[in-house]
Amino acid sequence: MYRAHIFHIAGSPAQETVAAHLVSLPDGALAVDADGRVAWVGPFDALPADYADAPVTRADYLIPGFVDGHVHYPQSYATAAHGGGQLLEWLDHCIFPTEGQFADPDFAHQAARYFIRRRIAAGTTSAMVFGSAFPVAQDALYEGTLRSGLRTVSGRGVQTVGPSAAAALITGEREAIDLVADEIDRWHAVDTGDPRTARVQVGIVPRFSLSVTRRTLAAMGELYDGVRDRGVYFHSHLNENNRKGDGEIAAVLGAYGTESYLDTYDGRFEEGSRVGGSSLLGRRSTLAHAVHCQPSELERMAETGTSIAHCPTSQLFLGSGTMPWRRTVAAGVNIGLGTDIGAGDEWLISRVAGDAYKVHISEDGDAGTALHPAELLFAATLAGARALDMEHAYGNFDVGKDADFLLIEKERWEPLHGMLTMGIRSDDEEQATEEELFTLLMGLRQPAIAGVYVQGRQVVAPEL
Ligand SMILES: [Zn+2]
Repeated sequence: MYRAHIFHIAGSPAQETVAAHLVSLPDGALAVDADGRVAWVGPFDALPADYADAPVTRADYLIPGFVDGHVHYPQSYATAAHGGGQLLEWLDHCIFPTEGQFADPDFAHQAARYFIRRRIAAGTTSAMVFGSAFPVAQDALYEGTLRSGLRTVSGRGVQTVGPSAAAALITGEREAIDLVADEIDRWHAVDTGDPRTARVQVGIVPRFSLSVTRRTLAAMGELYDGVRDRGVYFHSHLNENNRKGDGEIAAVLGAYGTESYLDTYDGRFEEGSRVGGSSLLGRRSTLAHAVHCQPSELERMAETGTSIAHCPTSQLFLGSGTMPWRRTVAAGVNIGLGTDIGAGDEWLISRVAGDAYKVHISEDGDAGTALHPAELLFAATLAGARALDMEHAYGNFDVGKDADFLLIEKERWEPLHGMLTMGIRSDDEEQATEEELFTLLMGLRQPAIAGVYVQGRQVVAPEL
């Protein structure tokens, strides 16, 4: 039994109704059963008699574990790297070389431990992890995930073409597909055998359309057709950067001759967006960024249940622009948050939510919006679970879900303590609650996260 001020977004709301689903229990109790599931949640003074003798752990706040919808494991050491330019320059100068180091087993094992430590420190209980090209590094990631108790969806980053700086990461097309199929066979849902409950799952993860060819995309579509019903994921990047019209997006459209970037992942990768293979979109597909989408692309993502991993911290870092919040929400696409480590220089998802708040309040004219504190919490938790098609299992404290949560102690971070105890609050109780949640999310820093739990068990950080 855990006693704290509990915040979560109950039920399964649409984005537009999230604020009405905010639950705040100032003196709340969360009871976890022997299977690690939420047995009861409510005000402490209404706790059923069955729990009267349960041992109590207290904290200042208790919120659902954060879900990071887009984080690059082989860029763990590449945060705050000066790339001397935007996306394509930064990839060449900083990222391809750092990712090449993961071929070394000793390096990869150390990096996996570091990555898992960073996630635990930041309270990221679940994540869509953009993987390394090297199987030895992916094995270290999955082994470490199972040992620690975290949840990980990942897949080796596939590149079959690219600049010379990426040479170490590139394989032939047949080898690329064989390695992905092998990773799925060895690791997908390996812990429970069921993609609805597994903590370790696998996806097909091309770096982006410029890193593969039509033949690779066709082969991936064929592979996906054969593994979709096993709950295998698809993950990549979309419409991230278009500096001066000659960045990533222009390069993709130039290389494929399609009407949109999304078409390349939707089986329509032939000239003029003619169909050349199977679609990779669906409920277990997440595309990072989606900053510069055409209306038809947003429509198609909504139609197929494909989610966006919104990465404003990374977009600021690489000068990629701002995803239009209101237009994207209006299209009906689910939007989770991603750190995009290492272009994102911040591991803590609540800080990414903070950057979302800042960039969207700064959008021009009517597009600008002050996100509701409940929307920030939703994006950081339940929307992320939805993006991974795991909303049935975690993301809030609905009874019966897995108890994935964070304990927060405000005194561990003096500014947070100051803001939450001495900050001014509205006289209106509902408004004061929303203000408190906002300050908690915006002001949270890693030292204040006192406990990280998945399925009711505290996760364990490996030694470095
Ligand atoms: Zn990324």
